[in-house]
Amino acid sequence: MEQKTRRVAIVTYNRVGEGQFPNGVVKGDNLEVYFAQNGHLAKWTWSSEGTLEEQTSARKYTAASVVRSIDLSKMDEVYLYVGNNGGEEAIRQSADLTSEKINYVMCGCNQQYKRDLIRRVGNQDAKVIWCECGGRETLENIATQLLKDKKTN
Ligand SMILES: [Zn+2]
Repeated sequence: MEQKTRRVAIVTYNRVGEGQFPNGVVKGDNLEVYFAQNGHLAKWTWSSEGTLEEQTSARKYTAASVVRSIDLSKMDEVYLYVGNNGGEEAIRQSADLTSEKINYVMCGCNQQYKRDLIRRVGNQDAKVIWCECGGRETLENIATQLLKDKKTN
C-alpha cells in the first residue's frame, strides 16, 4: 500500500540554523522536506555589477528567486520566513498559495506592515509563527522536528 508523500517546504532568504541543511530535498518516510535558503550555498547571490538601482533591488531579487526555486504549488505545507528586508517580496511570492498551506515565520519588525501585505495577497487566514530576526533558530527547530518525526519507525 502506498501512502501519499507529504511535501513540506522551508523557504528563507536567510538560512536555516547554521546552514547544516542542504538546499534541495531531504527525504523521509512519506515525507519530503524541501529547503530553499540563501546565504548558505550562495546559489542565489547576485552580482555586484549593474546600476545602483539594480543593486538596491538585489535583496528583493534574492527573496523572489529563493521562493521561486521550489515549486510551491506542489507543496502540502510551506514555512516561509518573512523578515524585515525582503519580507515584502517573500509575501508577494506567496500570493498564489492558499492560506491553509502557508506558515508565515515572521520576526516582529514592521509587524503591522507585514500583516497588511499578507492581507493584501489574500492570505490573512494563514498561520503565523513568530520568530527572532533572521528566523534561523525557529526554522531549524521546525526542520529538526519534521525530520525527527519521520524517523520514528
Ligand atoms: Zn526582525
